[in-house]
Amino acid sequence: MLPLSLLTRRSLPSSASSRNRLGLLSRQFSQTTFAMAPISKETDFLVIGGGSGGLAAARAASSRYGARAMIIEGKRLGGTCVNVGCVPKKVTYNAAAIAETIHQAKAYGFNVQETAPFDWTTFKKKRDAYVARLNGIYERNLGNDKVEYVHGWARLLSRNEVEVTLDDGSKTVVCANKILIAVGGYPTPPPAIPGAEFGTNSDGFFDIDTLPRRVALVGAGYISVEFAGMFNALGVETHLFIRYDTFLRHFDPMIQEGVTKEYERLGVRVHKRSALTRVDKDPATGKLTLRYREGGEGSAEETLPEVDHLIWAIGRKPATDGLGLEAAGVETDEKGYIKVDGYQNTSVENIYALGDVTGRVELTPVAIAAGRRLAARLYGPEQFRTAKLDYENIPSVVFAHPEVGAIGLTEPQAVEKYGKENVKVYKTNFIAMYYAMMDPADKAPTAYKLVCVGPEERVVGLHIMGLGSGEILQGFGVAIKMGATKADFDNCVAIHPTSAEELVTLR
Ligand SMILES: Cc1cc2nc3c(=O)[nH]c(=O)nc-3n(C[C@H](O)[C@H](O)[C@H](O)COP(=O)(O)OP(=O)(O)OC[C@H]3O[C@@H](n4cnc5c(N)ncnc54)[C@H](O)[C@@H]3O)c2cc1C
Repeated sequence: MLPLSLLTRRSLPSSASSRNRLGLLSRQFSQTTFAMAPISKETDFLVIGGGSGGLAAARAASSRYGARAMIIEGKRLGGTCVNVGCVPKKVTYNAAAIAETIHQAKAYGFNVQETAPFDWTTFKKKRDAYVARLNGIYERNLGNDKVEYVHGWARLLSRNEVEVTLDDGSKTVVCANKILIAVGGYPTPPPAIPGAEFGTNSDGFFDIDTLPRRVALVGAGYISVEFAGMFNALGVETHLFIRYDTFLRHFDPMIQEGVTKEYERLGVRVHKRSALTRVDKDPATGKLTLRYREGGEGSAEETLPEVDHLIWAIGRKPATDGLGLEAAGVETDEKGYIKVDGYQNTSVENIYALGDVTGRVELTPVAIAAGRRLAARLYGPEQFRTAKLDYENIPSVVFAHPEVGAIGLTEPQAVEKYGKENVKVYKTNFIAMYYAMMDPADKAPTAYKLVCVGPEERVVGLHIMGLGSGEILQGFGVAIKMGATKADFDNCVAIHPTSAEELVTLR
């Protein structure tokens, strides 16, 4: 019997135990079982990080192509997306959308009690339970796919050796033929202003357990904008601090200006060209007082008192600290992202990286797609030897109010790439029929834009803002990926009455 310090939490498929010839003794958990099992000392494919990309790669390598795969995860299976990203965010967005629908229902003749309070505390408990259920499903999926799961923190010792620090602090070393780094990222720490630490970040958003009265968010990216929209729709006084005049600055100007204007119309206090200078916390109430400048250089300092939560959402960084990249010789760029080529190869022959840690299109389906293609290339049949993800034309959505969808080039990008004379833009804005029965104040805008190039008018960019944009975009994404032209759009008969039909009838 080995000492207790060598026991670790992990899940191992029953059929996999025969593979662990050199195993240490370890603890095996699943949702309902608790057993002793060995931890392998060697594997073919060792994946660091049990998030979107790592899980996809490990599962595909093992279940589709028969590789002996191990995954090391330090926190919770599912990574950012499942635990502190897409999933709990979208569930919260759904709650916000329901609040809007309750308000709008009156216009359709429903006599609803609009003032019914939103029970954030109950909602949060249910949301947490849902996420915990998903964690369990992911663990069972690993078992079903015969991937060895070790709960612990991994560090590269060399190009083939990974040290794993287990839950009890003990360490073990695993040798691997190939290693995938899929460790994701974390929220950028706040700037060095007094009291910045009284704020939280996007992870902390999911810990809020009572409905706040007043919140402040800093950042112009999609995470900040999505959170601000949800708070506002749920009746929370919402302040959004941004550095310039618009937010979502990677999106087409139509989206930037349209959504910023709509947020202001909906009551979000958008503090433009602003920066926080100081945060104070009342020790008795826990409330924050923010000091800030707004309107650019030379503006006077202003005060926002009684803030329940300050959320810094000012970007993300790759989670490479303490990962041992230097020991293995893995190179990073100036921002710390792991350098990869189009095949997810790092600077070391048998080490690969994908997902947020590479800083390329930081979205869950991108990490998953890259992971599956890498597994196919490394362990699949001959026809997959050149498998890789095409990073061009990846659709993305912002769950804002209204929703935003975008794929391809913005109008300025297209002009820069192809020249103004070769770019033709089709656009429209209108009020969706859904709002026809409502008061003017309740009518949200819809705006669509197609960016086309060349005499054949190939569609190189599509930008949509309005009800249902998240669902609309996926199908149009397929068309654009296939190289559709404006004529192809026009050849598709409209579906009436919808908003999306406007995209195939643009003049
Ligand atoms: C608030 C928010 C909302 C988002 N919403 C969306 C959305 O709507 N749609 C979308 O597509 N994307 C969204 N994203 C982005 C998406 O979550 C990420 O792009 C995706 O999770 C990246 O996957 P990954 O595999 O690269 O990393 P991650 O999912 O972050 O997984 C990395 C894992 O590695 C683990 N790890 C790190 N270091 C070690 C180590 N040394 N040893 C062991 N384990 C380690 C971490 O604990 C983590 O679980 C959102 C992100 C945030 C923050």
